[in-house]
Amino acid sequence: MLIALKRDANPETVEATLRGRGLWTRRLEGSAGAPALSIEQGSAGISATDLAGIEGVAEVFTAPSAHPRVDAQAGSRPFDAGPVLLAGPCAVEDEAQIHQAARCAARAGARYLRGGAFKPRSSPYAFSGRGELALSWLADAARENNLLVVTEAMSEAQVERVAKVADLLQVGSRNMANFALLHAMGRTKKPVLLKRGMSATIEEWLLAGEHLMNAGAKSVIFCERGVTGFDAHTRNLLDLGAVALLKHHYHLPVIVDPSHAVGRRDLIPPLAHAAMAAGADGLLVEMHPKPARALSDGPQALTPEQLTHLAQEMGLLATEAAP
Ligand code: PEP
Ligand code: MN
Repeated sequence: MLIALKRDANPETVEATLRGRGLWTRRLEGSAGAPALSIEQGSAGISATDLAGIEGVAEVFTAPSAHPRVDAQAGSRPFDAGPVLLAGPCAVEDEAQIHQAARCAARAGARYLRGGAFKPRSSPYAFSGRGELALSWLADAARENNLLVVTEAMSEAQVERVAKVADLLQVGSRNMANFALLHAMGRTKKPVLLKRGMSATIEEWLLAGEHLMNAGAKSVIFCERGVTGFDAHTRNLLDLGAVALLKHHYHLPVIVDPSHAVGRRDLIPPLAHAAMAAGADGLLVEMHPKPARALSDGPQALTPEQLTHLAQEMGLLATEAAP
């Protein structure tokens, strides 16, 4: 942002006022006539209208944003009121498993039932989901327990089938930059949960959201699930700075998935607390009725009892309607 000062303004006074609001400025050299300031990267967020009201400021020039439709979501409450819990197994494995998981998720206070029918797996030899059959089990289990459904489509070809059962469409981390998939999901006009790519910058993540919204998505909820780190002790590196930035600077809907971020169940509660403190609107948590028998991501699945305990501890109760 550029700020043109009034001819009679004292630049030091204006700079001091701006610094008091967390805004660091640079004096523009060589500006003929009235002095001008630019706001340094990394400064606190502020609107052009607020800036224009500061004594000594003549005019504010904002650079056009690369993601105006995402920016326009600022302040929207994705779940009417938070915090919200989205919980369930990594994958829908069989009918009994997802029904049991749904009962446990509902008991814990979750509003959404999660579970992959189509699973993107790093290895082609790993369990990759039960597909279409799993979608119908998931839908039935959610309905019987008064839950909404969040589930992933991995390809354009799956979008229509997944959209029939999903209240919230999930874009997986591995697909964040699959633009054809984003466009197909956007065309359904449904809300989308957009997981951050494991090596995506925040700007790339926001632009992926812009692809969804430009194609027609009703809303985009950003989900931080950890980026690839350099240390194998935890599965990924949970970027809470990104969560705070999206919430406190961009005022966007954001939730955190501590399960894929850390990869082990004992560390999920502390990360969940940290996520909420950073500004998350809710949590996406993996839970399995029998984690030891899970076909994918067993080590990070909470037991039903652990999920209930976490939800109680955090006041994550199901009281609101769909986005
Ligand atoms: C998931 O949530 O089912 C999943 C596959 O996670 P991610 O895309 O974050 O790896
Ligand atoms: Mn998983």
